[in-house]
Amino acid sequence: MNFDSLDLFPQILAGVQALGYSTPTPIQRQAIPPALKGQDVLGIAQTGTGKTAAFVLPILQRLVKRPRGRIGALVIAPTRELSDQIRTTFQALGCQTRLRSLPIYGGVSMAPQVRDLRSGVEIIVACPGRLLDHIRQGTIRFSNLEILVLDEADRMLDMGFLPDIREIVKHVPTVRQTLMFAATMPDDIRTLTREVLRAPITVQVDPTAPAATVTHALYPVDSHLKTDLLLQLLRYTETASILIFTRTKHRAQRLGKRLERAGYPTTSLQGNLSQNQRQAAIRGFRNGSYRVLVATDIAARGIDVSRISHVINYDMPDTTDAYTHRIGRTGRAEKTGDAFSLVTREDEAVVRNIEFVLGARLERRRLNDFDYQRPALPGKDNGFPGQRQTPRNQPERAKTFNNWRGRIRSEGNEGLYRLRSQ
Ligand code: AMP
Repeated sequence: MNFDSLDLFPQILAGVQALGYSTPTPIQRQAIPPALKGQDVLGIAQTGTGKTAAFVLPILQRLVKRPRGRIGALVIAPTRELSDQIRTTFQALGCQTRLRSLPIYGGVSMAPQVRDLRSGVEIIVACPGRLLDHIRQGTIRFSNLEILVLDEADRMLDMGFLPDIREIVKHVPTVRQTLMFAATMPDDIRTLTREVLRAPITVQVDPTAPAATVTHALYPVDSHLKTDLLLQLLRYTETASILIFTRTKHRAQRLGKRLERAGYPTTSLQGNLSQNQRQAAIRGFRNGSYRVLVATDIAARGIDVSRISHVINYDMPDTTDAYTHRIGRTGRAEKTGDAFSLVTREDEAVVRNIEFVLGARLERRRLNDFDYQRPALPGKDNGFPGQRQTPRNQPERAKTFNNWRGRIRSEGNEGLYRLRSQ
């Protein structure tokens, strides 16, 4: 089966092509046809199986011919990170549809959300708490809603969202299509299924089948904000074992200590360790005493740890080969894995090469509530020493640094901001 046989509108197929998908994944093959017919679907599938597109495509197909400015679909997801990912998928697959999607979650102020809601959107991707705030304040209405999706429903129940979900469901039309996805089917999910789904078609991907390969994502960021971005990313991402790569052993050591201070059981591998220490570190990572291992390419050579959920390139490698080698450590065998890379402007060339070799554009992600504008403060939270500096730009940097120092002394931070905006 390919995407053509799903009878999607050309503007939606264009989105599928833009993302480089050629064949539907098993969950997509099973869930999309009944969903397109308007049936309720219960999908038992985890992240990495392509479940997002399994509900995004039917939603786009259903709403593309509908009048604009009315909320036709609501997706409820447990976390902001997941809401952002789903929203990104709506934007990417719907790039030719002009359908507008809006993420709604807490931790950011209500006012811009209310403004965006007023300006008219067709799709909402929301976390339960903030959505209820809007419902209670009357700033969102679902009288035209046609499709409701509960994504990662089992996780939402684990997080205690059941009362919120029940409350939300009371505010959406009873005549609607409902799609629900969960990785597991505990009893409370079965109960919820009976409450919200009507004669659902149940589809399941064999949990032992190779789910999806590795999910690659790039996080563009300025060098000095890498550590903060990483910490934020870890806060919002469900991870098991994480292997982080840095360019130098010094950076591996520094980052390891920083993560340890932030509460992540972390070990780092660098050349200064004795063979015994090295083995102890690897053993600790393998048996789960350390969740995070920070290493350089050389130090990580030969490590074979199954169950690595995430490989994170804190520093991008210099070559495509090194990239493939690094990320080959996640998503092994039946497991799925994520490969996140923090990329700076200097990494553009290597990113282009990697995309060329993989034959696909890598997804760029942006954390919504992260301050990307924060300037670098000399001598303070300025990333780590040892950042890539060509001999050519070093004198320039030293000049700027001294310039900043002078300004800060004489004018405080104001001077620094003025200097940066010049
Ligand atoms: P998900 O399970 O929805 O988080 O998707 C996991 C990853 O698989 C994402 O990076 C998707 O972009 C990718 N993906 C989804 N469907 C397909 C497909 N049919 N072909 C290739 N990649 C896909």
